[in-house]
Amino acid sequence: MNATLQSPLLDTYPRADVTFVDGDGAWLTADDGVRYLDLVAGIAVVALGHRHPAPLAAAQAQLERLWHTSNLYGTEPMQRLAQLLSERFGGAQAFFCNSGAEAVEAAIKYARKATGRKGIVALDNSFHGRTAGALAATGQPAKRAAFEPLVPGVTFVPANDIGALADAVDADTACVLLEPIQGEGGIHALEKQFVQAAREVADTHGALLVFDEVQTGVGRTGTFFAWERLGIRPDAVTLAKGLANGLPIGTLLVGDAAAGAFVPGDHGSTFGGNPVACAAACAVCETIDDELLADVHSNGAWLVERLSALPAVTDVRGAGLLLGVELAGREPGDVIDACREKRLLVCAAGERTLRITPPLTITRDELAQALAILEEVLK
Ligand code: PLP
Repeated sequence: MNATLQSPLLDTYPRADVTFVDGDGAWLTADDGVRYLDLVAGIAVVALGHRHPAPLAAAQAQLERLWHTSNLYGTEPMQRLAQLLSERFGGAQAFFCNSGAEAVEAAIKYARKATGRKGIVALDNSFHGRTAGALAATGQPAKRAAFEPLVPGVTFVPANDIGALADAVDADTACVLLEPIQGEGGIHALEKQFVQAAREVADTHGALLVFDEVQTGVGRTGTFFAWERLGIRPDAVTLAKGLANGLPIGTLLVGDAAAGAFVPGDHGSTFGGNPVACAAACAVCETIDDELLADVHSNGAWLVERLSALPAVTDVRGAGLLLGVELAGREPGDVIDACREKRLLVCAAGERTLRITPPLTITRDELAQALAILEEVLK
């Protein structure tokens, strides 16, 4: 019998042979009692660390009160979260859903409705999710090929090629869709001049500039939104991963200047805005203060310096605690396995990049422990 048929799960992930039963801060405990230092954080999701008291208390209190009403009615956590995110953005309206891909789907539909146009300009090597619209805008042909035809109207341009971007955006462009730092594609930051050019070309042609901050948002790069670091404000932004510290949530935030295009019936989600997820997300937003963001920034800089000095490391990219490490002569998969054997969790981004995305609350001492294991594995 085919081994995959024996599993009760469809074969979508190359899952490591370890089952976790408990989490605490930057640590996970497996079912055999062994503790692992977690520099994956559920792929940049557990922003404040496992079982952080603030989202835990907020979600627990909400679980005791009300789980679900649908969007036919208001709930306090959803309204409060929309308000908190609007304040962070500088004036915005929110649509809530359950994942990053759903947030991107909402962004694509919103841009089409707002402009009455079909075109989406996205980047080579981008990643926006696995649903049909988000996958159509994902600039990695190998991920798309088996599922085509997908949503039509997407044009891809190389990252940081201002001329190609200017040629691609025209009177049929609904939006330019960018990740400020390409995450799944291997941790590649866009150049500021390119993002600035995207802002200008979108304005010239009346298209929306949408940043997909599913991975870079919620403090991951040392500012709440990665665009704050660049000083270039998009018309709309998607968030997901870190927003509720591990409970499923996604959001499309549309800045006030671009708001008003959706009317009732245009879009929806039965579970979107779930009170428990939104209560946890409010606690996350309230915990990510200037002090924590400064720690993310300084711990990230400290880590870049030390990672760069490790054997076999040829490049360290990214910002804050979203880092990609390039290795010479070492297969990332082998390094990931060897680290796991030494009780350190890291993962990959793209084909050849080691990805480091610990909880934003990780301590210097924990980072030093992780570096010691990486050094041993890489020597
Ligand atoms: N957009 C970006 C930038 C991402 O990094 C991801 C996931 O890695 C997604 C969208 C899709 O998010 P999800 O897996 O929650 O659907």
